[in-house]
Amino acid sequence: MKYIHSLINGELIKTKDSVIRENPASLEKIYEVSMCSKQEVELACESAQEAFKVWSRMPGSQRGEILFNISRKIKEQSEILSKINTLETGKPIKESMLVEINGVIKTFEYYAGLASKISGTSQTINENLLSLTMKEPVGVVGQILPWNFPLLLAAWKIAPALASGCTIVLKPSELTPGGTLELAKICEDVGVPPGVLNVVQGTGEIVGASIVKNEIISKISFTGSTKVGKEIVKNSSENLTKISLELGGKAPNIIFSDSNIDSCLEANLRGGFFNQGENCTAVTRLLVDEKIIDEFVESYVGKASIINQGMPDNINTEIGCLISQPHLKKVDAYVKQGIAEGGELLLGGEVNAEFQGYFYKPTIIKIKDTKNVLFQDEVFGPVVTIMSFTTEEEAINLANETSYGLAGGIWTQNISKAIKVSKSIDAGYLWINTYGGIIPETPYGGFKQSGYGKELGVEGLNEYLKTKNVSIFTGDKLPKWYGNN
Ligand code: NAD
Repeated sequence: MKYIHSLINGELIKTKDSVIRENPASLEKIYEVSMCSKQEVELACESAQEAFKVWSRMPGSQRGEILFNISRKIKEQSEILSKINTLETGKPIKESMLVEINGVIKTFEYYAGLASKISGTSQTINENLLSLTMKEPVGVVGQILPWNFPLLLAAWKIAPALASGCTIVLKPSELTPGGTLELAKICEDVGVPPGVLNVVQGTGEIVGASIVKNEIISKISFTGSTKVGKEIVKNSSENLTKISLELGGKAPNIIFSDSNIDSCLEANLRGGFFNQGENCTAVTRLLVDEKIIDEFVESYVGKASIINQGMPDNINTEIGCLISQPHLKKVDAYVKQGIAEGGELLLGGEVNAEFQGYFYKPTIIKIKDTKNVLFQDEVFGPVVTIMSFTTEEEAINLANETSYGLAGGIWTQNISKAIKVSKSIDAGYLWINTYGGIIPETPYGGFKQSGYGKELGVEGLNEYLKTKNVSIFTGDKLPKWYGNN
């Protein structure tokens, strides 16, 4: 069985404690995973602090060059990275190869370009005073990841942090430790100095909490559940650590009767079932104009019923398995509760017993009541709900009627109406007449209980920078204040 190390100060570390991780599709044991202690997290923070002295002073263009080299090396190693990613997550290999790795490469390329373009401003305040702002890296950052897109989300965090000159203590999910470690090894292979990127494997309670509470850490970037996000906010208050939070979602898609139905069906199938629905921006609430709901439901259910569920490493598989047994049980319990609360099951609604692993069938449920648990709670599985609306106003109210505000979609050929509706939806990332695909150039992040702060785009880089103002007197002599009487 392969041992998955931690990486501290450039060294692969075996720890006293470890856990066994299984392949969620076959239940075969695949890894023994190192589990760091609080002391090992402290060592990682200290090494990142030391490395910051060098990395933060390196010219941005040089850091950019290293980031370009990381993206090139990932391209070379994309096949092996995709295989590891699929092995530990249970997602189809086609998605790992064509979507996730591609996103990782593009993210490193994007921030490679930005690394040399970090700049402040100058402002002439009056004839004797010039003000300069300087952008400086915030310091050592703690990055805590979930398991659903282990490589992509690692890239969204590592690339801007490295570009800005920060050094990193990163904790992957304990369920997906292998791919992130490989990514970190690639970074070191192409020139990221030891200590700049440390990977500490382990549990949230010990390793995650120790990162958050460590006083060396200047910023926490967290992606995960809203519940853990709130815990992190509490724990970070001791050191007043800067935080950004990418949390859960419950994305609505409003489908008006004049939509291009073929495109809409296609995008909403991917939106609902891509990555087994283990996706924070997954389409989980289809809100369909009453005038077209019957024909829409018939086509949507028909197309979803032929999605090919299979072993994740098979190139023809279109939907794989869930991440773990507890998660499978959670998804199934949500579906049963949603049906008990009045939901009408149109497809799936059960574990796929053809397989040994944690496979759940694509599930579609029609609901009438916004209080239904499937309308309100994040299920994080292949479960889509459908509800009808009659007016634009009702559609907007339904879209906003959850505590989350991460993503959403609007479908209509009337673009003025689409823009007007988009202004009323309280979520951070919307699509009109398409759905899914978050690109590195665009700022991504949620509102309400979906968190705060941004990843990606220039705003994602700014999360890792602090602004310093320097005011300069440019006159000949300062006016006298004392001794004037
Ligand atoms: P989780 O919140 O259970 O865990 C996320 C990470 O936090 C893990 O590494 C975990 O070990 C760590 N953790 C747990 N307790 C901690 C603590 N007390 N202190 C510090 N760290 C701790 O989430 P998950 O089950 O891994 O992932 C699924 C969740 O992630 C879903 O809610 C999903 O919506 C969210 N997510 C959000 C986005 C986004 O961009 N908004 C993207 C992907 C996933």
